[in-house]
Amino acid sequence: LAERIALPPRPDELHTLATAINGLLERIEQAVEREKQFTADASHELHTPLAVLKGTLEVLVRKPRTAPEYVESITLSIREIDRLTHLVDQLLLLARFDDSGMLSLRRQELSVLSSVHDVLHRLRADLGAKRIRVDVQDHATQAVVSDPFMVDLILDNVVSNAVKYSPAGATIVIELADVAGGLRCTIADAGIGIRADDLSRIFDPLYRSDALAHKHIGGTGLGLSIVAKACALLGIQLSVDSTLGQGTVFTLLFPAK
Ligand code: ADP
Repeated sequence: LAERIALPPRPDELHTLATAINGLLERIEQAVEREKQFTADASHELHTPLAVLKGTLEVLVRKPRTAPEYVESITLSIREIDRLTHLVDQLLLLARFDDSGMLSLRRQELSVLSSVHDVLHRLRADLGAKRIRVDVQDHATQAVVSDPFMVDLILDNVVSNAVKYSPAGATIVIELADVAGGLRCTIADAGIGIRADDLSRIFDPLYRSDALAHKHIGGTGLGLSIVAKACALLGIQLSVDSTLGQGTVFTLLFPAK
């Protein structure tokens, strides 16, 4: 840990400077601490499923191919590899956000409504499986200038979460409206909601609420941290409002052209 600068007795300019430097040192230490914690958590997330996979395959290799659990174990292993691949893809994307030189944005005029429909089209199997209805209300007249890949990534994560954390048969409302300063897109679900304590932490990498209702729902805890970074990069204001047991509303404010 860095040494703090001893404060001079009189509150003069030197005193102000020393206080500012001490504050800066504290922020750097907190950032290093967060980085260490993230690396430890990410290693754990990668290591645990790999150990399970190795164990499963070691048992399987000693069994005859005709054993009844053979196909089932291999199917489960493939699913676990898919989950790991997704996790690694998300970690790489997050790393690219931290090294902004690796990301080149391509801003162009785009329709948020079309992006919403693209996302819903990709999610149609999940929507069908849970019988979830999506009500898209378009009151906006403006196009926005942004990066289409990033906008797709943002909407995909937020809408996928709305589907994932909603009960079967629920309705999700996506509304687009012109407001002062730009175009507002709200994604409202009537799902499990987020505890007030968790609200400030859901954008932290790898953070997942440990609320009971949520234990059986799979995820990496990386989606919203990617969303937050993409929004910051594009000047999109992101906010969330939620009531536990009632539902969640994510709001994206795209700046006017
Ligand atoms: P995950 O892969 O766990 O969904 P995210 O980063 O996308 O990761 O979200 C972080 C956490 O925020 C989730 O684990 C969940 O606790 C909470 N969350 C996000 N979206 C919603 C939602 N629409 N309804 C309820 N909880 C949500």
